[in-house]
Amino acid sequence: MINADTRICCLIGDPVEHSLSPLVHNAGYQALGINYAYVSFRVSDIRQAVEGLRGLDIRGASVTIPHKTSAMKYLDRLDPLAERIGAVNTIVNDDGVLTGYNTDGDGAIKALEEVTTLEGKKAVLVGAGGAALAIAFGLKARGVKLVVLNRTGAKARELAQKVGAEGYGGLKLAEIASADILINATPVGMPPETDRSIIPGELLHNRLTVFDIVYNPRETRLLAEARERGRAVVYGDRMFLYQAAKQFELFTGLKGPLKAMESALAQALEGGGNVTNLDRR
Ligand code: NAP
Repeated sequence: MINADTRICCLIGDPVEHSLSPLVHNAGYQALGINYAYVSFRVSDIRQAVEGLRGLDIRGASVTIPHKTSAMKYLDRLDPLAERIGAVNTIVNDDGVLTGYNTDGDGAIKALEEVTTLEGKKAVLVGAGGAALAIAFGLKARGVKLVVLNRTGAKARELAQKVGAEGYGGLKLAEIASADILINATPVGMPPETDRSIIPGELLHNRLTVFDIVYNPRETRLLAEARERGRAVVYGDRMFLYQAAKQFELFTGLKGPLKAMESALAQALEGGGNVTNLDRR
């Protein structure tokens, strides 16, 4: 029951209407019986929103598009990893002191490690946006040899330079032939591009583990083609679950109850109803 003692957490972004974060976090609070509630705020002025977290003693916030970078300058502290990535997806409020974190990379690595080992492997990461950068740091920290491919070559090279990887414009197909892991970190595969795959099926060779961070639909065309060929696949909803569980821990100090959070997420994705083509956090 919501009362004067309820700790409030929230999502700040624009748009937020169809976010799955409230569902997943609130399912976790209910499962543990803790007096927390999670709501969404559609935010255009990020400075005022961050001040609002302080003013209203909101315990924590998930941060999504378009504020992941712009929120940083209004925080008191940055976790070293978030600082290196240059983006936050989480803010924790400790008695008015706001600290920014980034849990995307952690979520992606946990999802991958459910299916494959990483040390000494070669990964091709397609995309060079915010999510790709967080994942790239995670992969490099696990001793992965990383190649970044991106439509805009300059962004691929910039990301690669930040993390100590190779970066190329376009799809340098020879890199995929020698890779162990392929990751799609672009929105290709989401509505309205559900019939598109970023990599042609014939390039999905039999040593490849294929990870698509898109989770709407749960099985993108890329993953369907990989699965039909018998390749190991990693679904984007696993990354979503683990990045949310890490946020849960930062907000509450308690381990996120994965089963409850997972089942709320699965129900929402099976229902399909609320999810459209936007970043749903
Ligand atoms: P972002 O910062 O906007 O970056 C998008 C990247 O995708 C850029 O590198 C862009 O290339 C590339 N791209 C976009 N459209 C493309 C197209 N039609 N063909 C080829 N490349 C294209 O976005 P983001 O925050 O990194 O998010 C990327 C995706 O990951 C979104 O779909 C988001 O929903 C998903 N995501 C999932 C999770 C999860 O937990 N599973 C977490 C975060 C994000 P250019 O540089 O050439 O523009």
